[in-house]
Order: sequence, then C-alpha cells, then structure tokens
Amino acid sequence: MPQKLMIPGPVDIDDEVLAEMRTPSMPHYGASWVRIYTEVIQGLKRLFHTENDLFLLVGPGSAAMEAAMGSAIGPDHRILIPSNGFFGGRLREVASALRLDVVPLDVPWGQPLDPDAIRSTLRQDGRIQAVAVVHHETSTGVLNPLAEIASAVKEEGRLLILDAVSSLGGMPLPVDEWGVDLCVTVSNKCLEAPPGLAPISVSEGAWRAIDANAAHSRSWFLNLATWRRYLQEWGSWHPTPTTVPTQVILALRKSVQRLLAEGDEARFARHRAAAEAVRQGIRELGLQTFIPDDIASPLVTVIAGREDAQADALRRYLQVKHDIMVSGGLEDLAGRIVRVGHMGRASSQEYVEAFLTGVREWVQAGCP
Ligand SMILES: *Cc1c(COP(=O)(O)O)cnc(C)c1O
Repeated sequence: MPQKLMIPGPVDIDDEVLAEMRTPSMPHYGASWVRIYTEVIQGLKRLFHTENDLFLLVGPGSAAMEAAMGSAIGPDHRILIPSNGFFGGRLREVASALRLDVVPLDVPWGQPLDPDAIRSTLRQDGRIQAVAVVHHETSTGVLNPLAEIASAVKEEGRLLILDAVSSLGGMPLPVDEWGVDLCVTVSNKCLEAPPGLAPISVSEGAWRAIDANAAHSRSWFLNLATWRRYLQEWGSWHPTPTTVPTQVILALRKSVQRLLAEGDEARFARHRAAAEAVRQGIRELGLQTFIPDDIASPLVTVIAGREDAQADALRRYLQVKHDIMVSGGLEDLAGRIVRVGHMGRASSQEYVEAFLTGVREWVQAGCP
C-alpha cells in the first residue's frame, strides 16, 4: 500500500485525475488547446463563484500572491497585512521583497484576525491602498472571518487581496459576493490536482489599480497585465504568455469536472464530515485540538501535543507504522502540534479510518 498523504497539501489525488498526467505532450497553442484551456477557466470561475477575469498562473501560490501584490501596488505604496500565522508572515515577506510599505497588524497564532481592528486601522490611515490576508491560516488551522473582513475593507474602499490557497474549493468562498479583488488558490490543495498551477481572479477594481501602477511594474511574468495582454491579443490561438504544463492543466480540468459534478454542498459536507470524525475520534482517545472548533477551518485539524503524548512522536509513529504522513508545526509550534489535512483523498472515510486506527494504536501503546 502506498503512503497516505494527510498533510495540508499537496494532496493525494484520484486515479482518474492522475491518469491525465500520462497523456502525450501537446502544444500550449492552437484551436484544440484553446478549447481545453477555456473550459478549465470557465470551470474554475464556477468554483470561485466569480464573473471576474481568471488566469491560470504557472507556479506555486506564493508566486500568484507576488503577482497580485506586485501588479496592483507600486513601490513604497502602503498595504495592510494582518497576520496570525506563518502564511500571513509569508505575505509580508513577499510584499517587502516588492518594496511595498507594509503596515502590520499582529494577532497571536491560534487566534482569528479581528475585522474591527482592520476597519479602524483603515479609518486611521487613508494612505493604505490595499489589504492582503490569508483566509485559512494553515499553520494553525484558524479560519479567519473573511466575510466580515471583506465588508470592512470594501466599506473603506480599499483593494482586497486574498490568499485562499488552502480554502478555495473545500468550503464556501463566494468571491464576487464578498468583493474579493484578487483571489489566489493552487491546484494541489482543495482543487485535488497535481501542483504547478495557481488560479487567480482579478476584479474590475483590481484592473484599475493594475493600470494605475503600470509605470512601476517590476516584473514581466508575474505581471497580470502581461497575462491580460496575451489573452486579449493572442487568445484565439495562444492564450498565455509562455509555455504551460499542459498535462497538469489536463489533470486540473478533470479534477474541476469532478468537483463541479459533486457540487458545492456535497463537497463542503465531505470536508466537514472528515474534520468532525477526526476531532471526535481524537477526543475519545484523550487527545485535544490546539484551537476551539468554532474558530477552526473544516480543512485541517490541529492536535495539541502534551508532555506525555508528544506531537512529533505521534507524527513519526503514523509514518513508520502506518505509512500515513501528517504535518508538524512551523516556527514556534515546531514539535508541539500535529496538523492533519482533510483535503483531497484525505477527506475520504478510508483515510480518516486509517488515521484514527493509527492514533488509537499509538495511545494504546502508551504514546511511544
Ligand atoms: C500551502 C499554502 C501556501 C503556500 O503555497 P505554495 O503553493 O507553496 O506557494 C500559502 N498560503 C497558504 C494559506 C497555504 O496553505
């Protein structure tokens, strides 16, 4: 039996999706490619609940966040980046590398971001042009209150840039209804496809910011204006600026078809059910979660280690005895927590049961 990946991405994917990776290479241009590419974009727009433009950037989610911030915000222009975990910190690193003027707003790891604090920071500082936030802070499992954050940002008339890398597809995120201007996700988490692609949606307000920033652009590839120009001028035969990983896009097309056929309600329920089963199961075995359920996303469960039941020991036991890979903690949480993903095949009953069997054995063996 192969290893079971139960980390918060990349995820184990379905055989039908994997099979697309074996198709012969094809050019990233021409009529039949444009048909395939357009179908993937249309399907992704349905998953994003958006009518905005949407591009399939090539690269990791961090590259698409860099494209979002670098395209829309000029050097020395001010951006508010609230953070309550590792990935909020990542956004600040990216923004600083782009020489943006970053206004931080810190919340301790394990607590959700505060929409009122974001609103009052924006009211006090009219020079802040945009807010970049993480939806699901995967380092702690906290789900940030995005609807409330988005309405604060919109009421104050600023641009909202969202890292939805570990949430989009697995839980409700109506991009247009909430007014997310630039929304980034990846192929290899809740979209259940191989890594390598980062879908990003771009609102009209975001295009206005991108056009206003055109003279200060610091990139060609990670500039959304470049992607728009190719789509507009070359779209009938060559819709992207560069070569793209066609097999990965074919795999994503298959996966998007499957996710749409399953439907939002069933898909969200599948992830919630996996999270509930894991949380109930570990509590019955005497373990606790790191954060309360009411602030936790349904996509990762974070288990708190104890003196007599150490997180890293559980992680090693599952790997060695059960061929199940879960994640540990990052930075200050290294060695102190176990993060269990519920994305992709990890949301199946088969994986959940295998995981709980492993944890039960570990507890019965005295947490070695
Ligand atoms: C996984 C993850 C990332 C990093 O994505 P890459 O594709 O590796 O750049 C960023 N943000 C969040 C919230 C994540 O979960």
